[in-house]
Amino acid sequence: MERTELQVLNPATEEVIATVPAATAADVDAAVVRATAAQTSWAAAAPADRARILRRFAAVVDAHAEELALLEVREAGHTLGNARWEAGNVRDLLDYAAGGVERLNGRQIPVPGGLDITILEPLGVIGVIAPWNFPMPIAAWATAPALAAGNAVLLKPAETTPLTALRLAELALEAGLPEGLFQVLPGEGPVAGTALVDHPGVAKIVFTGSTRVGKGIMARAADQVKRVTLELGGKSPNIVFADADLAAAAAATPMSFLDNSGQDCCARTRILVQRSVYDRFLELLTPAIQEIVVGDPLDERTQMGPLISRAQLERVRSYVPDTLPGIRGKAPEGPGFWFPPTVLTGLPEDAPCAVEEVFGPVAVVLPFEDEADAIRLANATPYGLSGSIWTRDVGRALRASRAVRAGNLSVNSHSSVRYWTPFGGFGQSGLGRELGPDALTAFTETKNVFISTEA
Ligand code: NAD
Repeated sequence: MERTELQVLNPATEEVIATVPAATAADVDAAVVRATAAQTSWAAAAPADRARILRRFAAVVDAHAEELALLEVREAGHTLGNARWEAGNVRDLLDYAAGGVERLNGRQIPVPGGLDITILEPLGVIGVIAPWNFPMPIAAWATAPALAAGNAVLLKPAETTPLTALRLAELALEAGLPEGLFQVLPGEGPVAGTALVDHPGVAKIVFTGSTRVGKGIMARAADQVKRVTLELGGKSPNIVFADADLAAAAAATPMSFLDNSGQDCCARTRILVQRSVYDRFLELLTPAIQEIVVGDPLDERTQMGPLISRAQLERVRSYVPDTLPGIRGKAPEGPGFWFPPTVLTGLPEDAPCAVEEVFGPVAVVLPFEDEADAIRLANATPYGLSGSIWTRDVGRALRASRAVRAGNLSVNSHSSVRYWTPFGGFGQSGLGRELGPDALTAFTETKNVFISTEA
């Protein structure tokens, strides 16, 4: 098959910053052979040695944090502040996973007539298929615990953002990770991605991306009953009850859906406000949206950068024509893929923008009558990734937290992701969990052994 190239653009300027060869199915084959060889000795190494190498990897990432952050700004258009957090997140994940290596224990279970033990075995070679919206952290969410649990990792970054992943692979070698254990295969989804999903030498696929592609991967993996973790789309609610601290809720709302220009699976893009405080809340929210600083991602005052690509800009424009009513902030004209912060008002609750993932700096605001109505609206999409609940009533906070069907809720906050707590979706937002105390276990197979003491 003829080799193609991936062109990497700076989304803030539209300049081509790199050209990277795209992996073919034959490249995936060769990578699986190397990874399999490396994994066998990695799994046999003393846990303390694996932990030490992963800690060294974390230290090397830390030493190159500013370089990685700047690369993320250039290829993904992230603000510098976010990109610095992302490089730090990779370091922290590697350290956290290293801490789990020596605590990855099986069990001894009482049974009559013998001894019963469980062994947590590494799966083998893990295929990680990552999206472009958080290229570094999302790659690390799977890679760090998979390596820690004794597996090899083949990472396929998104077509538009291969550069930080390629740099991480170089840093892994510098840190002493065995050759072949962590390889990066930049390439096209239907070529390199499909080759990973189909390869019998790949034991598990961790896919983060759109629900549409995720469903296709799940169906394809079924043929080999291949393990899958799916982190998919979202359309998350931000529920503001009348008894909430309205000023705090309104102040937090802009960045709850504008962070990373709204290209965030956890973005709270459905702002649900109790009708009795609806007008007051919009009065507070309007200036906060209009004052968001959109522009050069390298300027430390910038709060929001560009969208990733022209295709993404066109997608957002097609969902949100200028004629829709709402509150709009400012954005540069171009070059670059800019869209202004936007809150749509007065739409019916089943409008496409209110139920489908737009994946841009766009939210809808919808009124609700009472707690039951809020829960009904919050659960009125096939997704279930995250959400916020704003109230001063502890009982209501707990009732709503139980009733909203989503994997990651926050009360009086819009925080979603911490590497030490579990993360994942209900419904069509995904399957399985990443991060948190069980992150390593997701990369093992449990084997139960019964040893008879009768004979
Ligand atoms: P996407 O589904 O288009 O692509 C994701 C990855 O899959 C890319 O690497 C792509 O090359 C690859 N791919 C595409 N087609 C493939 C195929 N047929 N076989 C194998 N691989 C294939 O998603 P995207 O546009 O890059 O990312 C945005 C989406 O990701 C949004 O829907 C967002 O909500 C979701 N997301 C979810 C989470 C989460 O944790 N739940 C996190 C970030 C992003």
